[in-house]
Amino acid sequence: MADATTDPQLRSWVEVGAEHPFPIQNLPFGVFSRFSEGGATTPRPGVAIGDLVLDLNLLETMGFFDGPQLRGAKVFSQSTLNAFMAMGRPAWREARKTISELLAANEPRLRDDASLRERALVPMSDARMHLPCEIPDYTDFYSSREHATNVGTMFRGADNALMPNWLHLPVGYHGRSSSIVPSGTEIRRPCGQTKADDAEAPSYGPSRLLDYELEMGFLVGPGTELGEPIPIQRAEEHIFGLVLCNDWSARDIQKWEYVPLGPFNAKNFATTISPWVITLEALEPFRTQGPPQQDPRPLPYLQHDAPAAYDLTLTADLVPESGEGVRCTTTNFKYMYWSMVQQLAHHTVTGCNVRPGDMMASGTISGAKKEERGCLLELTWRGQEPIELPNGEQRKFIQDGDEIRMTGHAQGPGYRIGFGPCDGKILPATPLDDASAR
Ligand code: MN
Repeated sequence: MADATTDPQLRSWVEVGAEHPFPIQNLPFGVFSRFSEGGATTPRPGVAIGDLVLDLNLLETMGFFDGPQLRGAKVFSQSTLNAFMAMGRPAWREARKTISELLAANEPRLRDDASLRERALVPMSDARMHLPCEIPDYTDFYSSREHATNVGTMFRGADNALMPNWLHLPVGYHGRSSSIVPSGTEIRRPCGQTKADDAEAPSYGPSRLLDYELEMGFLVGPGTELGEPIPIQRAEEHIFGLVLCNDWSARDIQKWEYVPLGPFNAKNFATTISPWVITLEALEPFRTQGPPQQDPRPLPYLQHDAPAAYDLTLTADLVPESGEGVRCTTTNFKYMYWSMVQQLAHHTVTGCNVRPGDMMASGTISGAKKEERGCLLELTWRGQEPIELPNGEQRKFIQDGDEIRMTGHAQGPGYRIGFGPCDGKILPATPLDDASAR
């Protein structure tokens, strides 16, 4: 599937350093408006190249997208990417090829037209990033064996760490799409109901055990009809691209509420994603084998031969309000036990339909080593082993004013496919007043 747009030798006339997240091999899609236009302008689709955003709406208006798929389609004249995502891979590849050619070092059409360049390329610092699409539904999986084993060990002991279903199906729950926000959105500490082990009754108040979960999310392209399962061999046709995902989690609320139906309020207050969608086209050179042969072998509807994992280095930093931050997690997306195509095949095996823009997140991505654990619950082993900050403070969980910053990238020869920021700062809770709380 690799093509000329992923050639490591390819260079753009836009200056991009070797470690920059957005070289010409990446070309991630997003939706932006301009601060300098007062934010009053309609959000529109763009592609990141170096420190600039290429305005796809303008290029479409000027007739640059004149291939058989996109001519007249007007998918970039909209304030979300849903219509483009719904078109499927032939249209995505056509758009990518057009953009790649326009930005290539030897291509003069845009490079040598100062007036057009001025209008079509927006400094990243002037781009306010929005969610890339309307997200109709959000599902969160639990597909890292190391994460599930660590959490299971903490809550049920090492002998019962993995539930009997875990090695047979990708466990997940239906999440909440209304509270998905783009990187940079401040997050209010949630209040809710918790019960300490030694307390007789539950109580109401701000969560005291607030955590991050380092995950990848994939966005669905073409949707399906109700009653129409997606066979695993065709699942990739329905995956537009990937974003970083912080599944904020209130562990104390989760512990009290989760039996028997799983997470609810512990997860529904916020999920942060990186606003640039990295396409499977850009990630194709980084496709790799997942974990060794799954044992027990999954049922036939979950079996696939082609490598379906991606080699993506992922990090999470905790940065206190004053002082230097600390790297908490360094892990890799390739550790996932269940692949994205298995998740999508399983999700739809019942005939559950999917819609363009649906997000499916991986679940916390942990590896075998301690520094590869993807959340504070595991890193501090429920708070027993606090993390040291450079300023001398300690953290068991996230405090007010702390910011969690996530990054991800694939390393190619001389270039990087980066994801850009996935950041969120925690604000103090605003509890209900006593009268309304009762
Ligand atoms: Mn999660």
